[in-house]
Amino acid sequence: MLSYRHGFHAGNHADVLKHSVLTLILDYLKQKNKPYWFIDTHAGAGKYSLESEFSNKTSEYVNGIGKIFHDKKKPSALSKYIEVIRNLNDGDQLKQYPGSPWIASQIISHEDKIRLFELHPTDLTSLLHALGKKQNTKIYGEDGFQGLKALIPPPPKRGLVLTDPSYEIKNDYIKVVESLKDSLKRFKTGIYMVWCPLIDRSEPLAMLNQLKKLNVEEWLYVSLSIAKSTDDIGMFGSYLFIINPPWKLKEELEEIMPYLSKQLGLNGHGSYEIEAKTS
Ligand code: SAM
Repeated sequence: MLSYRHGFHAGNHADVLKHSVLTLILDYLKQKNKPYWFIDTHAGAGKYSLESEFSNKTSEYVNGIGKIFHDKKKPSALSKYIEVIRNLNDGDQLKQYPGSPWIASQIISHEDKIRLFELHPTDLTSLLHALGKKQNTKIYGEDGFQGLKALIPPPPKRGLVLTDPSYEIKNDYIKVVESLKDSLKRFKTGIYMVWCPLIDRSEPLAMLNQLKKLNVEEWLYVSLSIAKSTDDIGMFGSYLFIINPPWKLKEELEEIMPYLSKQLGLNGHGSYEIEAKTS
């Protein structure tokens, strides 16, 4: 039984990292003017009210998107991400926050396809409500690790797969690596983006070591921490591991990460890392 609900965490520091990078990758794919697919194996509810009982309980967004949304000195590489949030909110008041499916729906065009997997029945209902009527979108109430196998390679042979589990089941760390190994056999040239929390446990870094050993020519690792690992705040940061990253992404990360770590860091303890393997 899944108990994780993303609504408690929507717009927090981890979402800011994940969604700003997601926006950059989708924007890059769009520039080529050839169709592509976006597959989200763990889609969540699509979009979230920041005034809901979930969000009010934790107010995690206050220390996330809340710290950058109104700031006038943001790096230009964050413009598209902020524009998607502004459009969802009809302007300046931050009342709603987009999930990865919503962000994709705002960036990709009619010829592109969106494929979303969500297992939690309540979030699935919200997701269907938010995006179920879109012509280019299919939503599956199935296991995303399993469902992905039937969708790749996508017909245009171009696409981004986001794997963003909640890791409430510890097996998820293993499944992520297994899923990538299988996916790379089916669709070697795809772009893959994996999200992982940084918490005081061994699994996130053990998984990172496994990811770095995958047989791929290019990857990009980026992490954002808002506190020291010894601070008692639970998830003190998160990382993304991107396989076959767009060529400009590292440069863009070098533009946004100093800003995000400074802006989101608690008591001046924000930090980031960028590491890349290139062919
Ligand atoms: N990708 C979303 C975003 O960025 O807005 C957030 C996703 S949230 C971190 C993870 C979601 O995966 C939860 O809504 C959970 O119910 C769902 N989930 C957990 N295990 C799953 C599985 N095996 N297949 C599909 N969805 C799953």
